[in-house]
Amino acid sequence: EKDEHQMMLEKAQQILEEYFGFQSFRPGQKAVIDFVMNKHNSLAIMPTGGGKSLCYQIPGLALEGTAVVVSPLISLMKDQVDALSSLGIPATYINSSLDTEQFHERMHQLRAGSYKFVYVAPERFESPTFLESIKSISLSLIAFDEAHCISQWGHDFRPSYRSIIPALDKIPNLPVVVALTATATDEVNHDIRRLLSVQDEHVINTGFARDNLSFHIVKGKDKRDFILDYVKDRAAEAGIIYTSTRKQTDMVHQLLESKGFQAAKYHAGLSEQARKQAQTAFTQDEKTIIVATNAFGMGIDKSNVRYVIHYALPMNIESYYQEAGRAGRDGEPSDCILLFSGQDIQLQKFLIEQSLMAEDKKTNEYKKLQAMVNYCHTHSCLQTYVLHYFNDYSLPEDCGKCSNCLNNENREDMTKEAQMVLSCVKRMGERFGAGITAKVLKGSKDKKVKEFHFDQLTTYGLMSQYTEKEITNFVHFLVAENILTTGDDRYPILKLTKQAGEVLKGKKQVWVQTGFARNPVLVDYNE
Ligand code: ADP
Repeated sequence: EKDEHQMMLEKAQQILEEYFGFQSFRPGQKAVIDFVMNKHNSLAIMPTGGGKSLCYQIPGLALEGTAVVVSPLISLMKDQVDALSSLGIPATYINSSLDTEQFHERMHQLRAGSYKFVYVAPERFESPTFLESIKSISLSLIAFDEAHCISQWGHDFRPSYRSIIPALDKIPNLPVVVALTATATDEVNHDIRRLLSVQDEHVINTGFARDNLSFHIVKGKDKRDFILDYVKDRAAEAGIIYTSTRKQTDMVHQLLESKGFQAAKYHAGLSEQARKQAQTAFTQDEKTIIVATNAFGMGIDKSNVRYVIHYALPMNIESYYQEAGRAGRDGEPSDCILLFSGQDIQLQKFLIEQSLMAEDKKTNEYKKLQAMVNYCHTHSCLQTYVLHYFNDYSLPEDCGKCSNCLNNENREDMTKEAQMVLSCVKRMGERFGAGITAKVLKGSKDKKVKEFHFDQLTTYGLMSQYTEKEITNFVHFLVAENILTTGDDRYPILKLTKQAGEVLKGKKQVWVQTGFARNPVLVDYNE
């Protein structure tokens, strides 16, 4: 049996070289391929650009029969099919973009077993004709690309992904299943494993670190000036600018065009043709910049994107990391820049509030948004922050090139001030938010402060040399560093954490970037 195993691996290596022209596997690829070729349902968690496609394409080629690849986006299918076809591998997609004749022809070929790979949208499994067809042929595997779409805890849940599950039970010749994703929190990971029957030992997680990306937070600068200044020296480089709304997309796009930059734009309000044109102009380097909402991107295979700028705060770390991660898929150094302003938080809260989500889901979204806000306030390494969010502790040291790592060379001790904030929060009974806490520390004559008799506290006016805004900002920093917490509340109430105890006892010091409190550039938070 060992020999057979060895032979499979050799076959995989041979396919890697002969079909794809690569010499060696990327981290995790070999392990996933090994599982799949041995018919174990598997889950591969790899960063964007990690090489997930080969994890099912190599077993698909090595095993008998047709591989069915479930993919959420039509554009993604076409790119994958084109890539396989150009390597001489029989592949196709079956989706709603086909006319009747094409559809029948491809279904016919599918039933004849002509294809090694067939890409379909999840909805295809609702079609009895399609199900009957795949039941009648030999299948090598079923791959779920962007598998996080199956989990309602994911940021991109698609109900049609989940409705495949009952259909799978009805496929008598069900082959091995392989799920692939770049974003999986514990909840999502657990959901995928449960729904697709993947055992713990068949999960490969290569970690999420992207060592060619430099993450930056920009605060307190005019966003438009920043963008114009940034793209000015990068005329030949490809970049994506993400905005939160279509209106912002139009505005930023117009700004760039008015200054003579070659920019495309993309959002769901444009016609399909306009979107297609924009995408082609960008992928074929006719226009180097694309301004877009998050409607743009999933499945865009452009490897030389040198920067991704977020004009406004994304709704959570999962979306941010996925969007920012579209930079530098070729492994070359690239920038991921987030332009932060406090007002953006209100927009995201509004979007959650007016959505039709169930209450527990909303609470969860608030919690994720808070983690995104904390990312903007932390002074720790940004790459490390994100990895810890995904429970990835594999990075041995800080990245050394994010805006925080670069600034952290000049730091000052603000332990004493942190103690003032913490004891104030404590004395106020851990029942209030950052705004009023800052007022008390400032010594404000605000009505609410008097009403609660906070002007009687020993901490009243203790930080009067700072502005209220500076104090608020410092409080947000303490939250981001997990010294204070706002829990999962929608109306954040400050509470002390275990670390706060250590700071109060003088066992833990609090270091901030020099000038942090006084430098107006860093003070840009409106509650
Ligand atoms: P993902 O789907 O994980 O984002 P892809 O499967 O699109 O990543 O792969 C990203 C890029 O890496 C592609 O251009 C692919 O050809 C390349 N690639 C994948 N595996 C290898 C490998 N073993 N050696 C070299 N390049 C690879």
